[in-house]
Amino acid sequence: MIRSRTFTPTHVVLSAGALSLILVASVWSAQSESSTSIQLPSTEAVNHLADLAQQPDSQATGQPLQSGTPDPARSTNIVQHTVQPGDSLSSIFSEAGASQADLHRIMKADVEYLALETLRPGTELKLIFSKQGEFQQLALDLDPARSLAYTRVDSDTFEYQESVQNTHWVSEVLKGSIRGSFYQSALNAGLSATQIASVQQLLEYQINFRRELRVGDTFAVIVGHERTASESTGKTRIEAVSLERRNRTHTAFLFDDGNYYDQNGKSVLPAFRRLPTAKSFRVSSRFNPNRLHPVTGRISPHNGVDLATPVGTPIMSTGDGVVERVGNHPYAGKYVDINHGNAYKTRYLHLDKIFVRKGQHVRRGEKVALSGNTGRITGPHLHFELQMNHRPVNPLKADIPTASDVPKTALKQFEKLAEYELAVMTNAASRSNLILAGIDTRFD
Ligand SMILES: [Zn+2]
Repeated sequence: MIRSRTFTPTHVVLSAGALSLILVASVWSAQSESSTSIQLPSTEAVNHLADLAQQPDSQATGQPLQSGTPDPARSTNIVQHTVQPGDSLSSIFSEAGASQADLHRIMKADVEYLALETLRPGTELKLIFSKQGEFQQLALDLDPARSLAYTRVDSDTFEYQESVQNTHWVSEVLKGSIRGSFYQSALNAGLSATQIASVQQLLEYQINFRRELRVGDTFAVIVGHERTASESTGKTRIEAVSLERRNRTHTAFLFDDGNYYDQNGKSVLPAFRRLPTAKSFRVSSRFNPNRLHPVTGRISPHNGVDLATPVGTPIMSTGDGVVERVGNHPYAGKYVDINHGNAYKTRYLHLDKIFVRKGQHVRRGEKVALSGNTGRITGPHLHFELQMNHRPVNPLKADIPTASDVPKTALKQFEKLAEYELAVMTNAASRSNLILAGIDTRFD
């Protein structure tokens, strides 16, 4: 995650020239890696079980073990399942022979994370049983760097664990010029639909993409690809954008604080509200990453702040963004997740009524819901959560971008970064050029 920058401003342009070579080299190295097949450890027994699990009437699926009936498949103790469209956890648990009661215990452990609400097809699940056939753990591989496990700690409780491998970002430059819509031009340059949406979100306060672009205007984007030591995680981020029109250049640079600024250090995105309510309410439960579970005595974090809102209190989005999820969780109740660009996300739980749908754009201060009393809770309140870079932070204290400029103390460092990345975007060879030259440049 650390981006070391040892270039002095006077060497920036020269360095950028050198970097274009590095970028080309990294494209090549990614290409050679993608053509090498990686051998995974052989898990024939597990695959066999997974095959059995596909057949609804086979012996290894369906009912829990009858006592005294030896089951050769169960002696490996793992049922592996790749999530298919239309799968539900409930059916996966039934097929594997794990109880719905244990699934409920896992959903309870999931209330602060909601990691199980939207299982994506292709996610690898493992249900792990003891030798005696007791269900012990649900494990998920979300991507090559991230996995989750819900592990039994006693007869009534499962605990959430997350493991994240070290990752680093590999940057590439994509360049193009406007022919037709910005969307089509950016697609031609190699950007994905999601990346194009991010770029438009970053520059939409400076430029009207429908009306103000002309044929021949040019753009360059630095896209970061997250990788473990050996493979891509599939996550990308926009690190810098430059859009050049006849008489103006629009820019946005991702800085170390997770915010985007233009080349003058002014924030390109509007500020956040601190709270999602018009007036302030008593805090009935504080943000506490070290909260102890009253029964097990183990750490069971409270990832948000609970506000004692009566049922029907209007809830506003604290920033501009896109509704990422609308759902109903047995413990979290009706909830909304809003994505505010690459670094920030907010989450609102236990709602009574929701006014937005998935994919909808919302503005800072826009009413998205009424607070309520849904889910497994003791009284009406709003659980409000703020995540920075996928980590929950204290929404009452976090350093959110209420200030609109790069802090004075970091300005020198930011200017160096912006100057460097502008030089890179101007001078580096682009992947679209490489595509024109017939070179395969996929990053995966
Ligand atoms: Zn809460």
